[in-house]
Amino acid sequence: MTHPDIVIIGSGIGGATIASGLAGSGASILMLERGEPLPATPHARDTRSIFVDGHYRPKEMWREAGGGAAFNPGNYYYVGGNSKFYGAVLIRYRKEDFSSMEHFGGVSPAWPFSYDTFEPWYSKAEQLFRVRGTLGEDPTEPFHSIPYAFKPVPDEAPIARARAELRGLGLHPASLPLGVDIDTWLKEGKTGWDAFPNTGQGKVDAQTGPLTTALNDQNIKLETGAYVEYLEASPDGKTISAIHYRQNGELKKVTPKLVILSAGAVNSAVILLRSPSPGNSKAGGLANRSDQVGRNFMNHNSSAMLAIDPRRRNDAVYQKTLMLNDYYLSDGKGGKPLGNVQLLGKIDGNMLRANVKFAPKFALDFMAGHAIDWYLMCEDLPDPESRIMVDGKDIVMQWRRSNMQSLDGLTKVMRENFRACGYPIVLSRPFDKRTPSHQCGTVRMGDDPATAPLDPFCRSFDHQNLFVVDGGFLPNSAAVNPALSIAAQALRVADHIRKTELTA
Ligand SMILES: Cc1cc2nc3c(=O)[nH]c(=O)nc-3n(C[C@H](O)[C@H](O)[C@H](O)COP(=O)(O)OP(=O)(O)OC[C@H]3O[C@@H](n4cnc5c(N)ncnc54)[C@H](O)[C@@H]3O)c2cc1C
Repeated sequence: MTHPDIVIIGSGIGGATIASGLAGSGASILMLERGEPLPATPHARDTRSIFVDGHYRPKEMWREAGGGAAFNPGNYYYVGGNSKFYGAVLIRYRKEDFSSMEHFGGVSPAWPFSYDTFEPWYSKAEQLFRVRGTLGEDPTEPFHSIPYAFKPVPDEAPIARARAELRGLGLHPASLPLGVDIDTWLKEGKTGWDAFPNTGQGKVDAQTGPLTTALNDQNIKLETGAYVEYLEASPDGKTISAIHYRQNGELKKVTPKLVILSAGAVNSAVILLRSPSPGNSKAGGLANRSDQVGRNFMNHNSSAMLAIDPRRRNDAVYQKTLMLNDYYLSDGKGGKPLGNVQLLGKIDGNMLRANVKFAPKFALDFMAGHAIDWYLMCEDLPDPESRIMVDGKDIVMQWRRSNMQSLDGLTKVMRENFRACGYPIVLSRPFDKRTPSHQCGTVRMGDDPATAPLDPFCRSFDHQNLFVVDGGFLPNSAAVNPALSIAAQALRVADHIRKTELTA
């Protein structure tokens, strides 16, 4: 296909979901994905391969700004994108996240539309990703017009106990909404799924969910190993006229009517910044009249917290079934928000080894075998100086963390809570820059072309046939996992494209 109606760049949550939303429309659609499908090999359930040897990590290095160190990012390039490795927590932003909210470190901006406008798209995304969950447990839960279609993934015994212990403190632990078919996952190997590659059907990710639906349409084709280098604008700059990509060492060009860029928040910004700008754009790149492309990079401030009781083994296999939002809207004392607490997948000695180099393996195994492993997640606020930049072929990251007071507060209160629940040892460690898993904000949507590259339907204000639909459009990071919100907006944008671009 050299002149398809639509090209979608990337097959992650954004790209695959919008493809599924456009399936059956009659439009000819070409998807360009730089990665290949993940092969099913024994590495997929081997914690040494994944976490110590970095078997699945990309071959590329990014650089920290200001001459900082090069690092190998945990950003995955396969069909299905980062979702092949995700924890499959498919949670809605809370209603309050759509309005501006004061945090300890500043103000989180509002979305250009309300939760009520977006709610039906969350329901559709939950159906598409076959989310398992239950309503009524979480005090911050927003209105759901359609209940979850499947019961939540069950707590294992040590987690059922942790749930009761937290309830005993007067807190409100709730089941995580998950895109996991637990029986299928465990049949393929007795491990957790968080950060493990999904080479089977156990997780509903971008590939096993929406991409499969999309590719049932004969008009939708996926090309892999297709690395998009840059976009070309028409001479008047009003449209994107071509996409230039490299495949098998050959430079290729495709000229669609409509372009949907879904390469992930970092790489979509990189592609736009690398593209030559027509005229004398001051900021450079495409879709960048606002000079906001690559800026406002956010990634959550998060820590792993291990609650250890040396007298009790935690023999959970997958563990990841609980969350706690008691400190999401306030610190519990009438102060500003702290964040979300949820379980990590069960950690083992190899996973600890990847972060703690000098302890003996038996000590790490003991610690992992007696810990319940939690993930504390706090909102990162947009800052124009928190940026993704390009320098020749290099990707340069200048992540300015914000709002760290929330993470400090959440760490303190959860340490006290776990001690009160009977875990005498509570250790925590923040995740670092090499883990841009919740990257967002770099091509944000908004009402004003002076301050946002995209309109509220993710259409570029500058080029009317360009949409950007991935974590980049998010105007704030909230303090929950982003995938469901990206998917819901992808379905909403697909509907908008059908109504505005594909009517005869
Ligand atoms: C270990 C881990 C655990 C996570 N757990 C959760 C979770 O539990 N819940 C949740 O909501 N989120 C989770 N996330 C985050 C979630 O996976 C991402 O938010 C989501 O997948 C982002 O989707 P996307 O479409 O924005 O981008 P991506 O998933 O990054 O997809 C972009 C796609 O574009 C392709 N691409 C990139 N550059 C090019 C190019 N130049 N040419 C062609 N193709 C290109 C990539 O290969 C990729 O397939 C997790 C992430 C990780 C890494």
